[in-house]
Amino acid sequence: MQDSDVIVIGSGIGGLCTAGLLARYGKRVIICESHTIAGGAAHSFKRRGFEFDSGPSFYCGLKDAQSLNPLKQVLDALGESLQVIPYDPLGHYHFPEATFAVYSNAEMYRHEVHKLTPQGAEEFQRFEERLLGLYGAMKGIPTLALRSDWQVILVLLQRYLPSLAKMLPYLPLVQASVGNVMDATIQDPWVRRLIDLECFLLSGLKAHGTIAPEVAFMLGERSRAGVEYPVGGSAAIVNALVRGLKRWGGQLRLGCHVEKILVESGKAVGVRLKNGEVLQAPIVISNATIWDTYNHLLNPEDLPASFRQISLNTPAVDSFMHLHLGIKATGLDNLTGHHVAVHDSSQDITTPGNTCMISIPSVWDKTLAPEGHHVVHAYTLEPFAGWERNNEYEQKKQEKAQSLYRALEKVIPDIRGRVVLELIGTPLTHAHYLRRYQGTYGPAIAAGKAMFPSTQTPIKGLYRVGDSTMPGIGVPAVAASGILCANSLVNIQQMAELL
Ligand SMILES: Cc1cc2nc3c(=O)[nH]c(=O)nc-3n(C[C@H](O)[C@H](O)[C@H](O)COP(=O)(O)OP(=O)(O)OC[C@H]3O[C@@H](n4cnc5c(N)ncnc54)[C@H](O)[C@@H]3O)c2cc1C
Repeated sequence: MQDSDVIVIGSGIGGLCTAGLLARYGKRVIICESHTIAGGAAHSFKRRGFEFDSGPSFYCGLKDAQSLNPLKQVLDALGESLQVIPYDPLGHYHFPEATFAVYSNAEMYRHEVHKLTPQGAEEFQRFEERLLGLYGAMKGIPTLALRSDWQVILVLLQRYLPSLAKMLPYLPLVQASVGNVMDATIQDPWVRRLIDLECFLLSGLKAHGTIAPEVAFMLGERSRAGVEYPVGGSAAIVNALVRGLKRWGGQLRLGCHVEKILVESGKAVGVRLKNGEVLQAPIVISNATIWDTYNHLLNPEDLPASFRQISLNTPAVDSFMHLHLGIKATGLDNLTGHHVAVHDSSQDITTPGNTCMISIPSVWDKTLAPEGHHVVHAYTLEPFAGWERNNEYEQKKQEKAQSLYRALEKVIPDIRGRVVLELIGTPLTHAHYLRRYQGTYGPAIAAGKAMFPSTQTPIKGLYRVGDSTMPGIGVPAVAASGILCANSLVNIQQMAELL
């Protein structure tokens, strides 16, 4: 007696994309989500009329028909679309020595860099051209045509031979780090730091730790399709995926924490929920992190000991301090939505508290805040270690939020006087609401040193998706992980029909 064909643990973007596609392929799918809100790191929450993105707010290629964004390909497959608001400049970077605008438009971006370093702007152009060449080659093969088993070769040979040939010269770049490309093209220290920063914002690692295709994708998509914000915030993306899942017969159970993946004779057979209920299915897919899946959802004896140990030793990027604010908007007419502030040039950009990211999405979508107000999210890296809910917790929270307030003061000097709602999140908050090991941003798997693990696991019938699987961290990447997993569970005729 099976309850469904597939059980997906978690409704992060990775879990939702996997489940939606599998439902689209005709499988009976149930998602069990621990939280009462779907979306994982990309969920939104409401307080006193303000609608906050808990994590991502930077998106591109959500609407454009030619988009390479795997999330767009999943939405198309599910028959869903989003209303988006395009904007440019995509943000402002505030370094101690200068503030400058970052444009999606490559020429305008180079022009801004030129104002600060003419030599660096020329080098930056060579760097971009290398990566945009790779992007151009990648464009010929949609992610929806990929799967994570040997049969991918059949699909590529049958349908994409010319694109594959175009890709061949770029194969060394596919494995390379952005740092390799940067070393070959850029001497200027200022531009090198800029590229390190762009990589850090994407992967949590600097240029030498970030894979070249990730930045090629980002530069290509943002210069071609532009940057845009979904009307209704990140929740609009999550809602569209949930609608698509349900349209194709899939189910989403919220407040449904999975305690264990049930394994019999080396094969996944279902899950046991926190309330004791058992759900049976021949395929179980975990959208929880690698550490949570292998440490908590399975028993140690379910996995080969050395595989388990190596997996659990995967290094993790730190967690975050979050500052969610509702502020008065009076007089802030020319406010822009994205900012990154680096406080101290003598410190590494990855030092906790030194680089602060800011999103003010109500500048694009006014419905996210009560009239006359803005909704603000600022965050910075913060290690999990040392945080405890003890007597000092509240005071430490206030202290650690100060670097975020100082960053915000670069954008809105009188920010403190404007606050009508303040929510401070710590690594404990992040770990709790996102059910993520130590509240991590994701695995710190450096390019060239190791690769993100694939969707398969040593347990038959058990798969993993999300940001601790190939291709890595970020909304487009986890959507791609969902595609790779779902496609690997159907035959290539079914894939061909969908394509
Ligand atoms: C602050 C921040 C800002 C970001 N900004 C951007 C951005 O601008 N652009 C971008 O592209 N990316 C951004 N990212 C990255 C991106 O949001 C994530 O990489 C991505 O959303 C992760 O999705 P996921 O599918 O891997 O899993 P998650 O989002 O981690 O979802 C996993 C889900 O599984 C559930 N779960 C876990 N364990 C269980 C269990 N036992 N039972 C049931 N359910 C369970 C969790 O509750 C959660 O809902 C940002 C991330 C953060 C934290």
